[in-house]
Amino acid sequence: MKSLTKVGFFFTIVFVFACNTFQYQATNRFYKKQAKQLVKQIIETPYSITDSLNNIPAPMWVGTTNFDLRKPNFVIIHHTAQNSFEETLRTFTLERTKVSAHYVICKDGTVHHMLNDYLRAWHGGVAKWGNNTDINSSSIGIEIDNNGFEPFNPKQIESLLNLLSVLKNKYKIPTPNFIGHGDIAPTRKNDPNIQFPWAMLANKGYGVWSEPNPSIKLKENLSVPYALALVGYDIKDSVAAILAFKRHFRGDSTLIMNDADKSVLSQLVSKKLASN
Ligand SMILES: [Zn+2]
Repeated sequence: MKSLTKVGFFFTIVFVFACNTFQYQATNRFYKKQAKQLVKQIIETPYSITDSLNNIPAPMWVGTTNFDLRKPNFVIIHHTAQNSFEETLRTFTLERTKVSAHYVICKDGTVHHMLNDYLRAWHGGVAKWGNNTDINSSSIGIEIDNNGFEPFNPKQIESLLNLLSVLKNKYKIPTPNFIGHGDIAPTRKNDPNIQFPWAMLANKGYGVWSEPNPSIKLKENLSVPYALALVGYDIKDSVAAILAFKRHFRGDSTLIMNDADKSVLSQLVSKKLASN
């Protein structure tokens, strides 16, 4: 009886594994086809930049011998705003959704890698940070399974920190370039939610952080929106930019900018200017 139970358990495991593999067989094939298409596009020489240059002689093609792949320089952190990681994997493997990310981190800490880091995922949408208006081209997108209101699971954060360590070292991503979706798209997005542990991340070298300091005030000639723009925020809608700043750096969802908030903002501006 006992050994029969064991055999049953073994087959259940094999069956579940086979199901999972089978479930994504078709999309994994699609991934390969799509990647091959991109390779073809890259190795076609001369790579045509002449399409938009009407009546201008085509450039002479002389292939250089010295090049490699462009690297990601930002990490954008998201919450999925969905109810399970299965739902998110499904969303990211349906063509019609037109959304994706490089990584999805489940509640138990399991990490799903969905796209080669060198390729462009569709996770940022219309977004801006400083003068960078094509964040997808320069970033890695990490989605954390979270419905948008719940706390983040410690196992997820542990996996996230491990992943960030690998990415930061491998691609030499600057410390301030670990930011949230809500930071780069303040009018549309609020992820990761207000409970995300930004201070702890910054303490480990992923993103910047400042605590209020009564002796450091925002300069009188520096308005709050202008200071937010210096940090990187798109201030086209200054209310949205303030809310994004408050959520990320003050764990607060109000619009009020008190002395403590302004002190933090002032220090972030100084850090930003010092890093330029
Ligand atoms: Zn997002």
